[in-house]
Amino acid sequence: MRAILKVRNLCAAYGDFQALFNVEFEIAAGEVVALIGANGAGKSTLLKAVTGLISPSAGEIAFAGESTSRTPAHALVRKGLAMVPEGRRLFRGMTVEDNLRVCLDRSRTDVEQALRWTIPRIHELFPVLKERRRELVERLSGGQQQMVAVGRALLAQPRLLLCDEISLGLAPKVVKEIYQKLPEIRAGGTSIVIVEQDVSLAKSSSDRLYCLLEGRVTLSGPSCEIGLEAISRAYFGAH
Ligand code: ATP
Repeated sequence: MRAILKVRNLCAAYGDFQALFNVEFEIAAGEVVALIGANGAGKSTLLKAVTGLISPSAGEIAFAGESTSRTPAHALVRKGLAMVPEGRRLFRGMTVEDNLRVCLDRSRTDVEQALRWTIPRIHELFPVLKERRRELVERLSGGQQQMVAVGRALLAQPRLLLCDEISLGLAPKVVKEIYQKLPEIRAGGTSIVIVEQDVSLAKSSSDRLYCLLEGRVTLSGPSCEIGLEAISRAYFGAH
């Protein structure tokens, strides 16, 4: 298995508060991996460490074969790490098209032309974004805005796409519509991490899953082999 991301023995803290304890986390090229855990389990902290937004207090992160534990966030984007942040963080007052364009000049350049994500390819993936391309982004529904956020991240030409709770606050139908696109995104050569509160959705949409509890990995393995009971124990802790 060729790993695109390897996290070894990772610890992270906010001041005196330790949020991650010796986390081991790995994603192979072409995999979809789900990261689950209750509120405050440490999922966002792990993503922040991987994307260079916080420095780990111990441990090692390697992305695309290079140590990146101390690499700043902007340099990681150029290496092929893109994030769909929680809450989408789109630019209000700008059109759908301009929100997509923002990422184009920060994108990785070493991508073969045929595999490159372009605005027309994003329009094929999410046709509604073509119809509404000249509208201000805040006029779109929550689901459509999430499609813009995913499209914008893809235009950075990521090797690895980190999706932080993309289903939050969206209707099940639109969540399904977005999740149905993951195989197509992966087929284009992008590995995917989904941070997801909906455990069944996380399980059914991923090849492998990890569960965090109070900063520690309490379960990991192939999603199809892990039962909901084991997930429940890992998610809430043994009582
Ligand atoms: P959620 O699902 O609510 O986003 P999470 O699993 O992503 O939760 P984190 O946001 O990583 O959890 O938080 C892990 C722990 O670190 C929590 O106890 C949280 O209160 C704490 N924490 C997060 N950010 C900070 C911060 N900036 N300063 C201090 N503590 C923080």
